[in-house]
Amino acid sequence: MQELPELDIYKRLLTEKLAGAQLTGAAVSSSKILQATEEQIQRDLIGKVVWFVERRGMHLLLHLDNGKRLMIHLGQAAYLYIGSETDQPIRSAQLKLVFGDVILFAVGLRADDLQLLTVKEVEGKLGKMGPDALDKNLTLERFSARFSKKRGAIKAALMDQNVISGIGTIYSDEICYAAAIRPDAKIPMFEQESWERLYAAMHKVLKEAIAGGGAGEQPLTSEAQNIGNYRTSFQVYDREGQACAGCGQTIEKIEVSAKKAFVCSNCQKEH
Ligand SMILES: [Zn+2]
Repeated sequence: MQELPELDIYKRLLTEKLAGAQLTGAAVSSSKILQATEEQIQRDLIGKVVWFVERRGMHLLLHLDNGKRLMIHLGQAAYLYIGSETDQPIRSAQLKLVFGDVILFAVGLRADDLQLLTVKEVEGKLGKMGPDALDKNLTLERFSARFSKKRGAIKAALMDQNVISGIGTIYSDEICYAAAIRPDAKIPMFEQESWERLYAAMHKVLKEAIAGGGAGEQPLTSEAQNIGNYRTSFQVYDREGQACAGCGQTIEKIEVSAKKAFVCSNCQKEH
């Protein structure tokens, strides 16, 4: 799963490797993945230079010098790999973007995960998205106000990209644990102090995850270090049956809004 920390790491590494590079070739395994004709690929992609890479919520945007954006969404099992003709990812890639000797591979993509868009089209698709979880303008007051219309479980609201963007199933569990709030806790029960704990926990967990290399399972390049190391720092996610580091009680797997969630029922409370 690629959430804010993993995509932030990708953004930094892709910018390092690709900013200023010219696309010399592109291959897509299916027109379902990138809805563009061969003619559009030749006209709008080939020969274009990548200016920089942006992350918006859980999307990466390659800014091209013709004003177009290649928007990449990475689902549960998808990942990127930067290599060459002789240094390819283990699984077959649905996308190959060729920059001379360097090739960016994307593996595990599904329908519509790649979109070649104008700036206006990007706004049409992402404009309604809530502020980024690490947006500097997202103060505690603005953060709690984003949830004012929500009545359900906090985990579902944290994952709702229209409330705030960048958080998925892994980090919503880890943030709730760090805030000592159950993922199935109901928002109307929250007090001012609950929001303070949740806000602080969100910053702490996401920043530590970025510094720790994120939780991605595949390195971006063959020489990449420090990728996915944060998996060993998970307190609850995917730790069903194991002991809570805080109190020793067994971590449970529960269901919240039809999604799995992990919780220590001793450390985490209703608000
Ligand atoms: Zn505990």
